[in-house]
Amino acid sequence: MSEGAAYRAHIAIIGGATAGAEAADRLAAAGALCVVFEQNDRPYGKVEDGLPAWHEALREKEYGLIDTKLTRDGVHFIPRTGIGRDVSFDQLLTEWNFDLVILANGAWRDRPLPVSGADAYINRGLVYQNPFIYWFNHHREEGYDGPSYQIHDGTAVVGGGLASIDVAKVLMLESTCQKLKERGIDQDLFEMEVDGIPSTLERHGIPWDDLGLKGCTLYYRRRIEDMPLAEAPPNAKPEQLAKIEAVRRRILEKAQRKYLFSVDPLWSPVGLLTHGDMLDGLRFARTRIGAGGKAVIVPGEIQNVEAPMVISSIGSIPMPIKGLPMDGELLRLDDTEHGRVTTFDNVFGCGNVVTGKGNLVASRKHSRQVAEFVAELLGEDSVPRASHESLMNHVREQQEAVGYDGSYHDWIGRVSVAAKSASTQ
Ligand SMILES: Cc1cc2nc3c(=O)[nH]c(=O)nc-3n(C[C@H](O)[C@H](O)[C@H](O)COP(=O)(O)OP(=O)(O)OC[C@H]3O[C@@H](n4cnc5c(N)ncnc54)[C@H](O)[C@@H]3O)c2cc1C
Repeated sequence: MSEGAAYRAHIAIIGGATAGAEAADRLAAAGALCVVFEQNDRPYGKVEDGLPAWHEALREKEYGLIDTKLTRDGVHFIPRTGIGRDVSFDQLLTEWNFDLVILANGAWRDRPLPVSGADAYINRGLVYQNPFIYWFNHHREEGYDGPSYQIHDGTAVVGGGLASIDVAKVLMLESTCQKLKERGIDQDLFEMEVDGIPSTLERHGIPWDDLGLKGCTLYYRRRIEDMPLAEAPPNAKPEQLAKIEAVRRRILEKAQRKYLFSVDPLWSPVGLLTHGDMLDGLRFARTRIGAGGKAVIVPGEIQNVEAPMVISSIGSIPMPIKGLPMDGELLRLDDTEHGRVTTFDNVFGCGNVVTGKGNLVASRKHSRQVAEFVAELLGEDSVPRASHESLMNHVREQQEAVGYDGSYHDWIGRVSVAAKSASTQ
């Protein structure tokens, strides 16, 4: 019996991070051969490039989990291979002859700022959260050649979720470090993240007002109590809702106490302030909370906010992949629970690409749920469409094309050298 005959199915998994590694682990345990395609060198997704770099312990733990799952029997890893970029989605089904495809490609596109013409000012006053946090996490690395940003005091952040608070924290920590540097103090940013700005300044004997910083402001279209910083249970009773609202307020107040940013709720961006080809700020309309908790614009109350930089942090949506149906910003699904993609009976989405939730546990849990459903679909006697040999020929050919020799740990060690040398500087 050939090695391939032992597998119940050949499954392509797009994306090797939290959701992709979980799906590979579960499906390999259920007897499938899983091939994980990862567009980047490293498979850590938002754990590496989204979660701000100060979450060191969490990041290392998640890296370990991903490494373990991607190196188990029955899982083959192909780095540096974007589906839709290097291999088309169609090829997976027609040339590689996979029986099933799992999309675990996350949400890497920033939801566009909903003001007409705003995107014409990207990097000319307007910055989106995903490249900004990527820059923050990587710009200290030797040889870094990604997006580059200057931190400006008085930046306006549009958002309201946890990620937008992280953006405000980055701005406050970076600008405080800059000011201390001007005074000859080389303050470690990551230590200041732990201690908070007031305690750090106190240790240096410098009052905040002496730094001459205005700080950034976070603009949110609803009330502080509505910020998605803590989730209410489904069908929450009024007293449960009141508790959650109090938790949200406390989370925000704690972050403001430690990092000194301002928050201005009940404002929605409606226009651009421009000067030549630069964005100079935003025009906001006052909102009130209407039916179903929606933000409704109050006619006639406007404020113009001049700002040297605007950062939009209003959520991330999936990058479209040619061949997959979309419903506006999102993947078109038959049902969210099982992630089945409309018009296909063998393509499923899991994790952030479906949930849209910026949460590791939610991504992993959804991926497990989808993988268990898919494992049940594989009958006891199911066999793959393609021979093991023909699939492995494709796998080896693509691995070779990107310089990956099949040894996961060697590869990760090799592509991580730059990051390591930066962290020891
Ligand atoms: C600022 C910020 C702060 C956060 N803070 C927290 C926090 O404190 N706690 C928490 O639990 N969560 C937090 N999160 C959210 C968490 O990081 C994500 O929800 C989670 O990592 C998503 O996992 P995923 O595997 O679903 O997606 P991702 O991590 O996005 O993985 C998708 C993978 O697919 C790859 N990929 C994409 N497209 C392709 C393609 N076409 N071909 C091949 N590969 C592809 C990507 O490179 C990536 O490796 C935060 C996120 C952000 C942005």
